[in-house]
Amino acid sequence: AVSARDHLTAVHDEVVRRSPAQPEFHQAAREVLETLAPVLAARPELGEAALVERVCEPERQILFRVPWQDDTGRTHVNRGFRVEFNSALGPYKGGLRFHPSVNLGIVKFLGFEQIFKNALTGLGIGGGKGGSDFDPRGRSDAEVMRFCQSFMTELYRHIGQSTDVPAGDIGVGGREIGYLFGQYRRITNRWEAGVLTGKGVEWGGSAGRTEATGYGNVLFAAEMLRRRGEDLPGQQVLVSGSGNVAIYTVEKLGELGARALTVSDSGGYVVDEKGIDLGLLKQVKEVERGRVEDYAHRRGASASYVPGGSVWEVPADLALPSATQNELDAKDALALVRGGVKAVSEGANMPVTPAAVRILRDAGVAYGPGKAANAGGVAVSALEMRQNSARESWTKERVESELATVMRDIHDLCWHTADRYGAPGDYATGANIAGFERVAEAMRAQGLV
Ligand code: GLU
Repeated sequence: AVSARDHLTAVHDEVVRRSPAQPEFHQAAREVLETLAPVLAARPELGEAALVERVCEPERQILFRVPWQDDTGRTHVNRGFRVEFNSALGPYKGGLRFHPSVNLGIVKFLGFEQIFKNALTGLGIGGGKGGSDFDPRGRSDAEVMRFCQSFMTELYRHIGQSTDVPAGDIGVGGREIGYLFGQYRRITNRWEAGVLTGKGVEWGGSAGRTEATGYGNVLFAAEMLRRRGEDLPGQQVLVSGSGNVAIYTVEKLGELGARALTVSDSGGYVVDEKGIDLGLLKQVKEVERGRVEDYAHRRGASASYVPGGSVWEVPADLALPSATQNELDAKDALALVRGGVKAVSEGANMPVTPAAVRILRDAGVAYGPGKAANAGGVAVSALEMRQNSARESWTKERVESELATVMRDIHDLCWHTADRYGAPGDYATGANIAGFERVAEAMRAQGLV
């Protein structure tokens, strides 16, 4: 075990040396490498042939210029990314993020997480991620369309239903996937449904894809509670964010008898004593593309808006961070523990900082890592690919029942793997080891490629 740990530390040092100034990628890599010592000690064949080293190095990284014109005729230049990280288990799969914070390090952290997440689904998908530093906020539909068309004019040559299958992430939803798909179809003259997921249900999309990440995280949290002899009905829940993941987290919580108390955006948060009103939230965010402050002003007495604050200040039973990376730090974790939190489950990717994870773990709070808890989104993407290959279109009931099975299986796989490797109840270790085992075994069997 000591030599396994030395090996893993050396791999992390090399990751930092080779890719300086990518702190989020270093953080994601360290978090995984720190948990792999027991599996390398027990299964030395998975430490050989530089498998760990290879998993940390993307198979291919694509950077490109994205020029576009705004409505006034001014020209802008953004940068586009696609990191094709690992294809041992299937075509590269993962979303596109359009946000001013996007850079190569962010895309690599997301792509790295995606390798293990996708492996956990068991649905035959490799790991990748992409995006741009384009800021869609305040842009007209026509501007977003022109940006998407320019982005795809370069991306199309790198993707394909058996090669690399992008989808949405922050800043990329149904509207953007539509514009991207249209441009792909025009350039290639192919109606290739399986090249993108998150499509509209009328033209090759899957029922239940929009809801899947949020729904899946709530199902995962419910499983974590069940292991502690509790259940979801009646629980008071903190949700951060107000995008696609947050909205469908609120929806599923309501369906299952729990109460979402909060939502947030970069300006602040709303706390609603009666529970977030789903209809109003959808109207403000999905129809008007507005801010949570607008929700608070229209909701009436039960809701108040706290500018600049963090939702983790509010006492509750459960916390479901669904905004972005590193949104819940050590002081937030201490506040949650003081507020009596029982479980934290990640709807976003890497929202809880390493120091916050340690605080939660020491306090006996159950912690569901994003690569397990938010895998429902990419799992339903894989079901969308399956429907596209068969030229089928499943009912929402069928998709939801498959999603429930996938989430339960992922939960149980993480639980049992953690147990088997001497870390009972530690979902993060279970997720990392189980995901790594699947990818590493496939890589080993496929030789030095
Ligand atoms: N962006 C989502 C994630 O972080 C979904 C990716 C997909 O559906 O390919 O997993």
